[in-house]
Amino acid sequence: MRVEEARAVVISRDGGCVAPLLDPGAGRCHDRWGNEMPRRSRQSALDLEVDRIRDAPAMGKAPGHDDPSRMVALCPGHHRGVGPSGGVQWATSHRAEIREYLARHNGRSEERDGVHGDPLGSVDDG
Ligand SMILES: [Zn+2]
Repeated sequence: MRVEEARAVVISRDGGCVAPLLDPGAGRCHDRWGNEMPRRSRQSALDLEVDRIRDAPAMGKAPGHDDPSRMVALCPGHHRGVGPSGGVQWATSHRAEIREYLARHNGRSEERDGVHGDPLGSVDDG
């Protein structure tokens, strides 16, 4: 998947910055100049950024920019600490919540391998 496609998939899936969704105390979203942004549903894709999340808090190379299952949409304020947060990055201090969120969205594809049922075989007409 190309980088631009992956970015579009992530922003469409998340529907805006995920910080207010995952953390009621995250505060308002801010654009790259520190101005308040509209609420999630009205945020423009042009104002949103994408953060890459490792599977575990271990050291190592960050995932690529082409894997939506390891990326989330964030406003510049929650991503980079722009605006009134004074440089405090919400994304960095809420990795666990973001991983849970991604796990929920990615769950289906991970469970697929374990399904071996035969739905027709279980039908019992009595
Ligand atoms: Zn935000």
